[in-house]
Amino acid sequence: MKPSSILSFQKLNESIRSFLVNLQLKFKTKRYPTFRAFTMSKLVIVGTVAFDAIETPFGKTDKILGGAATYIGLSAAQFDTDSAIVSVVGGDFLQKDLDMMAGKGMNLEGLEIVKEGKSFFWSGKYHNDMNSRDTLATELNVLETFNPVVPEAYKDAEVVMLGNLHPMVQMGVIEQMNNPKLVVLDTMNFWMDVALDDLKKVIAKVDVITINDEEARQLSGEYSLVTAAKKIMTMGPQYVVIKKGEHGALLFYKDQMFFAPALPLAEVFDPTGAGDTFAGGFTGYLANTEDYSFNNMKRAIIYGSCLASFAVEKFGTERMESLTRIEVDQRLHQFKSLTQYDIKLN
Ligand code: AMP
Repeated sequence: MKPSSILSFQKLNESIRSFLVNLQLKFKTKRYPTFRAFTMSKLVIVGTVAFDAIETPFGKTDKILGGAATYIGLSAAQFDTDSAIVSVVGGDFLQKDLDMMAGKGMNLEGLEIVKEGKSFFWSGKYHNDMNSRDTLATELNVLETFNPVVPEAYKDAEVVMLGNLHPMVQMGVIEQMNNPKLVVLDTMNFWMDVALDDLKKVIAKVDVITINDEEARQLSGEYSLVTAAKKIMTMGPQYVVIKKGEHGALLFYKDQMFFAPALPLAEVFDPTGAGDTFAGGFTGYLANTEDYSFNNMKRAIIYGSCLASFAVEKFGTERMESLTRIEVDQRLHQFKSLTQYDIKLN
């Protein structure tokens, strides 16, 4: 297909989506209804839908759209998958953000809106290296009393992405699913600090865990990432993905290992959500291809890294909101040439 016909096809797709969103708005209830595609593979996404206030060496934002599930959903939206968000927001959440998410094809039936409550709020400040950050505030708000409800039509989804959120909420989602083929868990040091026992119970039930290097060390008590991954595998997951920020990501399975670099970028404005965007690309690709083998996971890691490289180019979700599939495909080619050797090794 020519680039111009791809563009007009995308435009047509977007017009159909926005027509459906307008229809949905007429039927608004406490949970946000959306239309569901019939043939695409399904992906259930759990995680925070939030407000973030971010400070990096390049600038500072007031409360903007953020949250683990938001980034995962935006990233998975690049694939033909039918994804549903399971989360909670307060009455302070903005209609325009709900519309944007629905417009990207996310089913929001499982996104509870607590009118009298406040949305989850997180604030962070990045150090000069942009690889490390300090959390300045984590306000759970409506998350404190949240009981997740997976929409009936998504209980048979093959893939579940348990994004960052209280481990008991993640467990509540696993319990509602009818035998998914792949459950992927993401978490962070915050939950290791405040709910380690609950987190371990969830870890025991998942197929894949994605965490960053610092968190892998904290969870396993091991400095070597190879030893850390081995120890984490004994806790439950068959696959361990360790994200190393600008240094790429490692995939461990039994005694095998695979590495995908991060694309070196000239400008990184805001690394917030890079890990979640990676997770969205990883699970979006796997749900779309319905192949959960180690070999396909290697490809999924490359898609995840590719998508994460976009997320950091602008503040908050801005870059992911404007991202097109053509840009993703172009960057995948860059990834390929970045690591292709034409050297005889023996
Ligand atoms: P990442 O940069 O991939 O670790 O993800 C950052 C996103 O995670 C932000 O948009 C936050 O709203 C969200 N977040 C931060 N802390 C937590 C937490 N303790 N639980 C769930 N989500 C969080």
